Amino acid sequence: MELPKSADVVIVGGGVMGASTAYHLARKGSRNVVLLERNPLFGQEATGKCAGGIRYQFATEINIRLSLLSLPMLDRFEEELGQAIDLRTCGYLFLLTREEDVKAFQANVALQHRLGVMTEWLTADEVRRRLPLMRLDDLLAATWYPRDGLADPNGVVQGYVAGARRLGAKFLSDVEVIGIQMDKGQVRGVRTKLGDIATPVVVNAAGPWAAQIGVMAGIEIPVVPVRRQVAVTTPIRDLPSDFPFVIDFARNLYFHREGPAILTGMSNLNELPSFDQRVDPEWELIHFDAAMARMPLLENVGISTRWAGLYEVSPDAHPILGKAEEAERFYCITGFSGHGFMHAPGCGLLLAEEILDGKAHTVDISSLDLHRFREGRQIVEYNVV
Ligand SMILES: Cc1cc2nc3c(=O)[nH]c(=O)nc-3n(C[C@H](O)[C@H](O)[C@H](O)COP(=O)(O)OP(=O)(O)OC[C@H]3O[C@@H](n4cnc5c(N)ncnc54)[C@H](O)[C@@H]3O)c2cc1C
Repeated sequence: MELPKSADVVIVGGGVMGASTAYHLARKGSRNVVLLERNPLFGQEATGKCAGGIRYQFATEINIRLSLLSLPMLDRFEEELGQAIDLRTCGYLFLLTREEDVKAFQANVALQHRLGVMTEWLTADEVRRRLPLMRLDDLLAATWYPRDGLADPNGVVQGYVAGARRLGAKFLSDVEVIGIQMDKGQVRGVRTKLGDIATPVVVNAAGPWAAQIGVMAGIEIPVVPVRRQVAVTTPIRDLPSDFPFVIDFARNLYFHREGPAILTGMSNLNELPSFDQRVDPEWELIHFDAAMARMPLLENVGISTRWAGLYEVSPDAHPILGKAEEAERFYCITGFSGHGFMHAPGCGLLLAEEILDGKAHTVDISSLDLHRFREGRQIVEYNVV
């Protein structure tokens, strides 16, 4: 497809954020939306490396509200967009092994209940009965919400791309953005390796590369790339079909069912920001030791595949959503810090409202503005994995 000369909105980045924003702009009536992705295919970076977890169990009101908006949109996704997304409400089970976590989760669960997310407490014995495959002698308690679960990131991206295209949006791959043209704080256009596109509105949906797009517009965006890696085992016989998404909270370690196997990940909290996406073999050993200690049968299975990807991390682990004050019509949808996939449906809609209606109205996103960092209004979240 030829590069258009002009557009009403140019979206930089064809991961789940860009695709959802394009779809929601087009659905709200915007007819000249152009999305640019530098890779040959859409959704192959953070989105394609994602573990697919979707949950309501968060520790801040804004994250719970984003889940309350987004997860029902995933429930309706196939009906609305005609694309299967392998939705599985297997539940999330947070294992708590430290007194301080139990205390913090008491406050989280109270907040979740206030917002209508009826998370349940399970005793250590109940969890041992439910998860006979896990070694749980150090467990104090767990929280459980059966409507949390999993969905397929690739299906969600493809559904939004096809849905937006049907409504007239243009998606171009193999097009790298190399500059944002600005004039006295106004967006004028986007420069690419294949030519320029005049536009009054730019959406920065470049995920782990969002800060680079900010630099092109002279706007500091405090988002850094941080490597996270996962592995999938070989098939495990008799793995229960209702095996939940289990998070060993104190160890930043998680497990979920991936077909007949287990997908496991563990966040290295000492990982320094970088664009390195090679699997770190040293961390993998630490991860596998922890995984086998929690789930001993993993000692007897192989690894079928492994990969590393990048979280797009903001200083308070919350998204940056909305317009930048420095430039009239430069918008960000980034900084999701490890749980962006699940919030992409709602955040794409909310950003489309910001752009077309002047303000997001389905959820108040004023706390997610870019300027909270320099104004000391950071948000505190305990449930980052
Ligand atoms: C290992 C791992 C596990 C995760 N697990 C979960 C999970 O269980 N649940 C969950 O909700 N989230 C999870 N996440 C986080 C989630 O994947 C991200 O928050 C989300 O995918 C971010 O989407 P995005 O569209 O912003 O970024 P991306 O998918 O990275 O898309 C950004 C796009 O911008 C493009 N781009 C960058 N620069 C340019 C440029 N100059 N010109 C043109 N294009 C450009 C890139 O090529 C890329 O395709 C996980 C992430 C990782 C790495």
